[in-house]
Amino acid sequence: MVKMSPPSTGATTRLACAARWGLDSLLAVLLAPACPVCLRLLDRPTRGLVCPACWDTVPRLTLPVCDRCGDPLPSRRVISQPSSRCRRCRRRRSAIDRGRAVGPYESTLRRIVHLFKYDRRHTLAAPLDALMRQHGADLLADADCVVPVPLHPRRRRARGFNQAAELAAPLGPPVVHALRRTVATPPQTELPAARRHRNVRGVFAPARTHRGWRDKSGAMRGACVVLVDDVATTGATLEACARVLRGCGVREIRALTLARVVRREAH
Ligand SMILES: [Zn+2]
Ligand SMILES: [Zn+2]
Repeated sequence: MVKMSPPSTGATTRLACAARWGLDSLLAVLLAPACPVCLRLLDRPTRGLVCPACWDTVPRLTLPVCDRCGDPLPSRRVISQPSSRCRRCRRRRSAIDRGRAVGPYESTLRRIVHLFKYDRRHTLAAPLDALMRQHGADLLADADCVVPVPLHPRRRRARGFNQAAELAAPLGPPVVHALRRTVATPPQTELPAARRHRNVRGVFAPARTHRGWRDKSGAMRGACVVLVDDVATTGATLEACARVLRGCGVREIRALTLARVVRREAH
């Protein structure tokens, strides 16, 4: 009797690759899906909504950046002062200790964030999260938990999801819904910069229960927390959230976003 042996791991992988290649070819011919960013036809539709070339052009904020806000700093060679903070962060007080963003809120990153947030393309969450884990590695490494910036319940119902909570979930540390938004304010992006701090003043409060963690008040005392949001424009929303967390006794507050509107310093 001929004994059938299962295909080796190598053979299985080759089979899976061939099947995927076949499926990609079939989908590319039958459906002709296009990358929603560059509008070119996708060669490998099973590999994701956005083509690899567009992911490659996502602008990044790489070192040196300000340790508190994540804005680019002039090259290390021309920094005369030892501080790793930008001029603006050295001058102002903030409840946020450290902050990072994957990239500036422009070009491909802005387009992908819009697809994720407004067109509800949830499959983008995984690659976007990979970028956040990569750029925020040192902020996340020893954090006790991540806290997503909350939406007002009315807006959350209208959108169907909270993009910040969706981004926070796979980052690693436990997700704690420690904050709630008590007032439905107009979106920050619709307001002039000068009104954004006023727009979010007093609209956040500690959550009545810390879903996802110990649920008593005082649970945040002494904790190191990473606030998570999709985009920081002036930083007013993150600052308002950080002040509430500080009031709950949080020891260290870090902020991690996908994108931020950057201010480039001239030195
Ligand atoms: Zn593309
Ligand atoms: Zn700064």
